[in-house]
Amino acid sequence: MNEQAMKEVVAQILSCVLKEMASPSGQCHSCAPEDGPVPVELSARHVHLSEKDAIALFGAPLTHARDLSQPGQFLCKERVRLIGPKGVMDNVAILGPSRGKSQVEISKTDARALGVDAPVRQSGDVAGSPGILLSSATGLVGLEEGVIVAARHIHMAPEDAARFGVSDKDMVSVRLGTERPVVFEDVLVRVSDKFKLAMHIDADEGNASGWKKGVDGVIVARSGQGHEH
Ligand SMILES: [Zn+2]
Repeated sequence: MNEQAMKEVVAQILSCVLKEMASPSGQCHSCAPEDGPVPVELSARHVHLSEKDAIALFGAPLTHARDLSQPGQFLCKERVRLIGPKGVMDNVAILGPSRGKSQVEISKTDARALGVDAPVRQSGDVAGSPGILLSSATGLVGLEEGVIVAARHIHMAPEDAARFGVSDKDMVSVRLGTERPVVFEDVLVRVSDKFKLAMHIDADEGNASGWKKGVDGVIVARSGQGHEH
């Protein structure tokens, strides 16, 4: 550590101690875990495809249309149709890169319209979930399973996790101070050095809270690691 960095650290500690002495509770707020803000993004219905399924649908691997907020993730030029027992949804976004297994992420409202009983699951946890048909202009793929409602979650880098006082797989409660304020409980924390800080909610959660682009959330409660239901 150079001299300048050392001076900054000492100044920060000193300011903390002084605030602590001045505070009636003896708690220095700037030393306690921070509460926010956490940018909240809405994940519209989308599909992840295996390379095999992408080729069956489009005759070629997926192509990049634009980057998404999480590093390495992108929206594809290709679109797909979802065909369920009760309904059809056209023009559904595909997110790349391709994965080991295809997965469809929809809202509970979409699930009702399509006629599939999609469970709330963490991305990638598709065992026993319902299947669906995917079609393009030139191909048709039947998934035996893979239709889920994605559990709300926060992506964060290890530095964010340290700042917020949370760990990977913790559950937190997040308040959205929107025109219809809502506290979302059981928000899954995902920590990776590949992640950028963002909370992801689905369209139903967005509508329930009056979400708009640019809304931030605040962590209002934390539970221990590995909290199970
Ligand atoms: Zn996400």
